[in-house]
Amino acid sequence: MLPPIANQFVAGTTASGTLDYVSDCNSDGMGAIVNLLGEHYDDPERAAADTDTYCQLVSELAAHDIDGCISVKPSQIGIDISPDVFESNFTRIVETGANHDVFVWCDMEDHTTTDTTLEAVEAAAQDNPHGVGIAIQANLKRTDEDLQRLVDVPAAVRLVKGAYDEPTTIAYESKAAVNEAYKRHLEFLFREFDQGIAVGSHDPEMLETATDLHEEYGTPFEIQMLMGVREDAQRELASEGYEVNQYVPYGDKWIQYFYRRVRERKENALFALRAIIGI
Ligand code: FAD
Repeated sequence: MLPPIANQFVAGTTASGTLDYVSDCNSDGMGAIVNLLGEHYDDPERAAADTDTYCQLVSELAAHDIDGCISVKPSQIGIDISPDVFESNFTRIVETGANHDVFVWCDMEDHTTTDTTLEAVEAAAQDNPHGVGIAIQANLKRTDEDLQRLVDVPAAVRLVKGAYDEPTTIAYESKAAVNEAYKRHLEFLFREFDQGIAVGSHDPEMLETATDLHEEYGTPFEIQMLMGVREDAQRELASEGYEVNQYVPYGDKWIQYFYRRVRERKENALFALRAIIGI
């Protein structure tokens, strides 16, 4: 059972309940990106078990004919154990996705994992072109180069601001600098990139920049937002004809995820508390 404080942001503890939630998203005109909660495993068996669960989830999404894909955290499938364990589990998930025509996103975690994550996604994309995508963080100063490198890779990019505290030597510190970088990267993607662009942000300013760039360059894009955040805006954008995909976490390991949402925005905690006490 999920505690009430978590269920604004987490669809449930089981895959079957989550698939029901995803069907509701579909009825509202949105797709879903399902994420099994879990991170920083140092036990290969746990990493393998979550890999199995993702493969099962992929076949269930396909069997239920649901508009949904999945998103996987590298540290959930072995990046803290070794690059090889991570790559092999990731490849297994991507191949299962390709067999069932289910797209696989790879989340990005802190900067110590960026190179290994990029390499695994690049390799998977070469073997399964257009079946995989990667989150790229605007707060990292290296991102200009990473996007340049991804231009020749058949993988989609989800541009996010970045949810991890990073050293100021390698990351922009102020919100203004991150926002400026985000808009610069959007401009680059709409101009240079045709493998799929996902705008992973709730920020009206970033969404407006994306729609302006879409008008200018004609490049298609999708909007990705998290479950529990600006859901009215998500439905409204979907009803206006934009492709909106909601990121839907499930599972019982919700604490780290919830903590990141609250750190991003204190109102998220208040919002969850209000829902519990009914004000
Ligand atoms: P913020 O900079 O937090 O806020 C900007 C503005 O957006 C606010 O001023 C407000 O106008 C509006 N806004 C934001 N939140 C709310 C709210 N709750 N209610 C009302 N208005 C609001 N990070 C990673 O590091 N790696 C990942 O793999 C990753 N994947 C993600 C996937 C998706 C689909 C999304 C949406 C985010 C992901 N993130 C990831 C998190 C991301 O990096 C940011 O930390 C997070 O999205 C907050 O930044 P923001 O652009 O949404 O807006």
